[in-house]
Amino acid sequence: MDWHFKHIIPTDFPSNLKVNTMIEDIFQNNRISRNNDLANSARESSQNSERNVIKLEKKVENLLIVTEALWTIIKKSHKLEDSDLEKLIEKIDLKDGRLDGRVAKTGPVKCQNCGKTVQNGNVKCMYCGTKSTKGVFQR
Ligand SMILES: [Zn+2]
Repeated sequence: MDWHFKHIIPTDFPSNLKVNTMIEDIFQNNRISRNNDLANSARESSQNSERNVIKLEKKVENLLIVTEALWTIIKKSHKLEDSDLEKLIEKIDLKDGRLDGRVAKTGPVKCQNCGKTVQNGNVKCMYCGTKSTKGVFQR
């Protein structure tokens, strides 16, 4: 019997070159799809960040209004001038040795009960549960 391998392959079966091209197309489409997903995710993240900045700007504006209102009340009731406030702001700014409109962050405090370090932002000591003695304006 004269039988040859090529006889069992359909005549319309793609050649190796066509199969390779098809596989490359599949991978290429997969990469494009993955990059589109990444681009969409980045766009969404950027939009969230923009919304958060707008929220923060509104909060800062509100704090400025409240601060000005409080200062106006204090100024009137204690017969102070704006220059008194400006001097005090400068004094506080200079606490860290630099006049830069910022206050240096303070380091972590020690627990008054067990003496272990209480990390910044923690209200209670994570070792013994004692409330932190960190001051109101410590950062
Ligand atoms: Zn403690």
